[in-house]
Amino acid sequence: MISIRTTGLFVVLMLAGCVVTVNDRVLVGKDHVEKWQSKIVIAHRGASGYLPEHTLAAKAMAYAQDAHFIEQDLVMSSDDQVIVLHDHHLDTVTNVREVFPDRARDDGRYFVVDFTLAELRQLAVTERFDSSMGAKTAVFEQRFPLHKSSFQINTFAEEIELIQGLNQSTGRAVGIYPEIKSPAFHRGEGKDISSAVLRILEAYGYGENQDEVYLQCFDLNELQRIHKELLPAMNLSVPLVQLLGTEPEYRAALSPEGMQVLASFVDGIGPSMQLIVEPGSVAGDLKVSNLVQLAHDHGLVVHPYTFRRDQLPDYVENYDKLLDIFLDDIGVDGVFTDFPDITAEYLESRP
Ligand code: CA
Repeated sequence: MISIRTTGLFVVLMLAGCVVTVNDRVLVGKDHVEKWQSKIVIAHRGASGYLPEHTLAAKAMAYAQDAHFIEQDLVMSSDDQVIVLHDHHLDTVTNVREVFPDRARDDGRYFVVDFTLAELRQLAVTERFDSSMGAKTAVFEQRFPLHKSSFQINTFAEEIELIQGLNQSTGRAVGIYPEIKSPAFHRGEGKDISSAVLRILEAYGYGENQDEVYLQCFDLNELQRIHKELLPAMNLSVPLVQLLGTEPEYRAALSPEGMQVLASFVDGIGPSMQLIVEPGSVAGDLKVSNLVQLAHDHGLVVHPYTFRRDQLPDYVENYDKLLDIFLDDIGVDGVFTDFPDITAEYLESRP
């Protein structure tokens, strides 16, 4: 009697201890397949590890590299066009300084919202650079060289047409993952970027097929407004993802109470990877937060950012190990990555 109970307890403890590190081993057959099949590769700004971010070339490459979703960061031009660009500034990925030297604001920066689409078309897009010390230096030295070949700014509609066109010509169903950038800034400029984005999603049929779109935003109020006001008014249904940063403003959202509030209007969260494996982690001693478990308990998917082969956290030696930790051990549902190819290969190679 005593020995049976002791053995049973030992087995329970052993299984409990195994769950975190080898949880795929306790799944068998169908469950194992479903665990891996449901995970998604989100091409962060396209295949931005290989080509200048947010160019149509980078998006086509991401598509060919088997991304499941392709990301668009969205800002607005002076003539109300929705543009695909990471910042509402032009300074760090274009030659705006050379083409329009007298169009900076008092802070020395060039704002997308001060230019028409026709003017934006005159700019050459390049790999991201830093010019704070004067000369331009690439943010990622090993990536595509600065000011080579020919890339330009494009609209959200043009990028959707690229992806939908490829969906038709390949027979695949790659989704879009647009991010509304700086809604408060745009409001200050007299522009309702969220309404403009939703009108485009509606025009291209994304309010109906929920499998092919996630709409994301960092602003803690905007997705709530979209859920409560804009989507019902347009009779649209679009899955929403709250982005979460490491800044203090996000702390409340990470609590159990905060997560419950989020779950009332979003379908998932997109946290910084540092909110899941916390700073101070070293190989063999990871400080893993309860965020993923908490989100899953509330039925939310978890898509952390940003997975880069050329910018690994200190606690891993290589990219596959990073994916092992997040996708396998911790069990996130997808990742934002600059390298869709090696991420898709990792998922496809799971036993
Ligand atoms: Ca983004």
